[in-house]
Amino acid sequence: MTKIDTVMQGFSLGTDQGNIAFCGVTLIEGTKRILVDVAHGGRRQLLVQRLQERGLTPDDIDYVFLTHAHWDHMINIDLFPNAKVLIHPVEREYAKNPSEKDWATLKYATLALESHDLQEVREGDEIDDGVRVLETPGHSKGSMALIVRSESGTAAICGDALPNGLSVATGLPRIVFWDIDDARKSIRKLLDTAKDFYPGHDRPFRVEDGGRVQYLERTSVKVFGWPDAGEGDGGPGLSYAAELPRETQVFV
Ligand SMILES: [Zn+2]
Repeated sequence: MTKIDTVMQGFSLGTDQGNIAFCGVTLIEGTKRILVDVAHGGRRQLLVQRLQERGLTPDDIDYVFLTHAHWDHMINIDLFPNAKVLIHPVEREYAKNPSEKDWATLKYATLALESHDLQEVREGDEIDDGVRVLETPGHSKGSMALIVRSESGTAAICGDALPNGLSVATGLPRIVFWDIDDARKSIRKLLDTAKDFYPGHDRPFRVEDGGRVQYLERTSVKVFGWPDAGEGDGGPGLSYAAELPRETQVFV
């Protein structure tokens, strides 16, 4: 039976000094090994280490499934030169000429993508037994999710179409780079299709009847390395706001 394994949890961590942008990386193991998203360079060593802990190297990955082509989900793609890279044809085409307001699709992303063995996949395509593609546009033009039937039911590996638990309540992703109505429909479609969710920037959760989000894994982040408190400079100035901003940001 197909196994879903969180290699690295995603986080909705932001700072007023820039974007941490840790996306979730998920391994689907059936007759093939499919890695969903590959994260950015800041998590490169951790990604390799997490694969090692499973007795794997990047060469053991058969398919890399890119939910979309944003920098924080695809930068480490070069670690997987032997994998087939699955991408939606619309996302592939869009990456060649991203919109000016879209700061998440790097203009050179297309060069990295096109240097790989790309395979275009669409709604309904079956990647492995019980593993199929669901189109979820809106956050980006060609976003897609992977729907996995496993022992515990139907799960969706969502990317940023459903980035976190808060999106279940708001019905919108945290950020929209393409179309807000499509983004809303895609969340509805995901919630209608699966029970367990592996979101783009949060840990896995189950949505119970009535819409309550029940997290499936524990999480923790240790933050270190901020400047030492110096004499007379008022200290390191580190503060923590536990509340995630609720408002969706739109860059269209
Ligand atoms: Zn994104």
